[in-house]
Amino acid sequence: MTQLPIAANGRGYLAIPGPSVMPDAVLQAMHRPSPNIYAGELVDMAATLIPDLKRVARTSGKCAIYIGNGHAAWEASLANVISEGDRVLAPVTGHFGHGWAGMAVGLGAKVDTIDFGRHSPMDMARITKALKADTNHEIKAILAVHVDTSTSIRNDFAALRRAIDAADHPALLMADCIASLGCDQFEMDKWGVDIMVAACQKGLMVPAGVSFVFFNAKAEGVRNAMPRVSNYWDWVPRGDPEQLWQYFAGTAPTHHIYGLRAALDLIHAEGIENVWARHAVLARAIWAACDAWSQTGTLAMNVTDVMNRSNAVTSLSLASPDGTALREWVETHLGLTLGIGLGMAENGGRDSDAYFRLGHMGHVNGHMIMGMLGGMETGMTALGIAHGGGALEAAAAVIAAG
Ligand SMILES: *Cc1c(COP(=O)(O)O)cnc(C)c1O
Repeated sequence: MTQLPIAANGRGYLAIPGPSVMPDAVLQAMHRPSPNIYAGELVDMAATLIPDLKRVARTSGKCAIYIGNGHAAWEASLANVISEGDRVLAPVTGHFGHGWAGMAVGLGAKVDTIDFGRHSPMDMARITKALKADTNHEIKAILAVHVDTSTSIRNDFAALRRAIDAADHPALLMADCIASLGCDQFEMDKWGVDIMVAACQKGLMVPAGVSFVFFNAKAEGVRNAMPRVSNYWDWVPRGDPEQLWQYFAGTAPTHHIYGLRAALDLIHAEGIENVWARHAVLARAIWAACDAWSQTGTLAMNVTDVMNRSNAVTSLSLASPDGTALREWVETHLGLTLGIGLGMAENGGRDSDAYFRLGHMGHVNGHMIMGMLGGMETGMTALGIAHGGGALEAAAAVIAAG
């Protein structure tokens, strides 16, 4: 006889690495009729978004907003600076790095990919070497993912900037912070990042559908030298809008604006440094639990060195098929949804039932993380998956110490 769900009713918890949990304040802000898009509150509110987004991105550059998911921001960023035949370098540490590089190929760029595998961050010496070998400075841009959400590897962008400077190379540094913005510390200006893309449904806690391209003066110069840029993706009117429609090249994403306004209010009321610190302590609690579990059995974190782990997402494995079995059990029996494995299969094949991921981005706090870990402990116990003891105690100790 199959076991009936024991404790699934009640408020569910979506612990996948995007979309993330939406705060009630965001949901409530969005629950309203359509506003006038030509005058009034919405117009005033849209103008306040850009400065507050830039504070999250730590940049004094410009920000263009697009109605679209992260893939739209990938395309938008490339459309402004990459023409057919241009060369780009893509240092890749997971599925999403390949995705952005593939989008550049689709736009006719010649892409040199350096794949660092699924367990290690970028090797900066190899990047310097590749740039030094480009003596004619043909490489126009470097497409680098800050946190690759598939592998949960976080790359050190201060070190990446130094690696580019060591080669004395003028290429644009382009960052994908879709998973990391508002979770892991990111310093666009300080780290010399020229273009940064993000989306609203991860650390920014808004339903999917709006994305962002931040760009500095150097990137503007490259854009202005482009032979042509498609009207829709052009960041010039969006970055310097005089009318609301120019922000969005048409009708504004009305309800996203309300939701995003509420989310930015939450972030800035907490303070972005405090937001990073909260993600850091919760991530350490998760890793402490995983370390304890992995003393017995097959549970393993994908990234060994804590310095290379994201504070927003953790990729894990159990012996196949236990990863999938655990996910399915906690969802059915506890109302807890964990993320599927992504991009971990060799040669682009189907991911095995070993891999899964924990999303801990955005609107998460100590009791939610303890609940997620308790749910995993419960699932492993119910399924007879071997695991070490003391995981919840270890996580509690990390959070208690702050
Ligand atoms: C989620 C994600 C994307 C893709 O974003 P979509 O909104 O799904 O298009 C790209 N890069 C990274 C690092 C991500 O986490």
